[in-house]
Amino acid sequence: MAIRTNLRDPNEGTADKDVAGPNDLGSVTLDDRDELRAAFARDAAGEPMARVFNIQKFSLNDGPGIRTVVFLKGCPLRCRWCANPESQLRRPQIQWERRSCRQCGHCVAVCPHDAVTLSHDGIRIDPERCDACGMCLEGCPGHALNRAGRRRAVADVLAVCLQDEPFYQESGGGVTLSGGEPLVWPEFCVELLGRLRARGVDTCIETTALASEEVFDRVSAQLDHLLIDMKHWDPARHEAGTGVGDERILANTARAIAAGKDVLVRIPVIPGFNDSPEDARGFCRRLREVGASRVQLLPFHQFGESKYETLEYDYDYAGVPSLSEDALEAYRQTFVGRGVDAFF
Ligand code: SF4
Ligand code: SF4
Repeated sequence: MAIRTNLRDPNEGTADKDVAGPNDLGSVTLDDRDELRAAFARDAAGEPMARVFNIQKFSLNDGPGIRTVVFLKGCPLRCRWCANPESQLRRPQIQWERRSCRQCGHCVAVCPHDAVTLSHDGIRIDPERCDACGMCLEGCPGHALNRAGRRRAVADVLAVCLQDEPFYQESGGGVTLSGGEPLVWPEFCVELLGRLRARGVDTCIETTALASEEVFDRVSAQLDHLLIDMKHWDPARHEAGTGVGDERILANTARAIAAGKDVLVRIPVIPGFNDSPEDARGFCRRLREVGASRVQLLPFHQFGESKYETLEYDYDYAGVPSLSEDALEAYRQTFVGRGVDAFF
């Protein structure tokens, strides 16, 4: 299976090809060795590492109870509506916020790789030169620069997660891995989830389910819940919207459900992509095929729009309005009318 890189991504450098990773789907080339080494890397103490771009505490929407959500960087999909575009590449990236920039030129002066240029239009960071060293962040008077993605070891992330253990116990919550696609860091996931479970902490993942069977099953074995996205019911339109086919996603989803795992399928409802009555009927057929009788509908939103500018990415959904409540309810009713327990 070919994994399409984000052709619209000016930050895509040759040193960091964004491939499926160690849970490879047959597409890894020699150029990807650096990233594979990174994905399997361990720190001096032998701890598996992953690139984390956020740890969000007290989340109420990412599994049962109060949860800590660990966001891992890197994803084999390129959903055109992605709300976290900084999560797509596995390598770290510098984000620049135009409205905070004072155009002082400090970043140009300190960059050791001459990666930054300043013009009347603001700064531009050359992704071929920038290695995300972070030197430009220090001393930026407008705090206009941010580095997305930092390599962190399991023990480090585990310690952060366990700070909220009392809240998990009181609320029936726990820890959720999200991204990006957490399964591109399988060693890290297995180790972190295993240690959490050993302490009695509930574990969950938000995943595309696009991984090899071996990786998917190995990580699933450490999970109490799986939240799996289904982006389209039609394989060709799935590939057009995400860059990848859906065969392996459906196979992994069906296998997890058949194995008795607690799986919740979620559908992002995207205007003009999968929001028609025909789409709802198509999804119902797919849900039946994988053995799911419940589905959560996730209405499209524009929370990620500003992030595209910070990365100098084009955004296909710029200005696209959210769906109305009436339209969403009619969409939901199509599921309900076919015996699927659909909810928002
Ligand atoms: S150092 Fe900060 S404020 Fe100054 S030009 Fe660079 S990004 Fe803008
Ligand atoms: S992160 Fe480092 S290499 Fe990249 S622009 Fe800033 S100073 Fe230059």
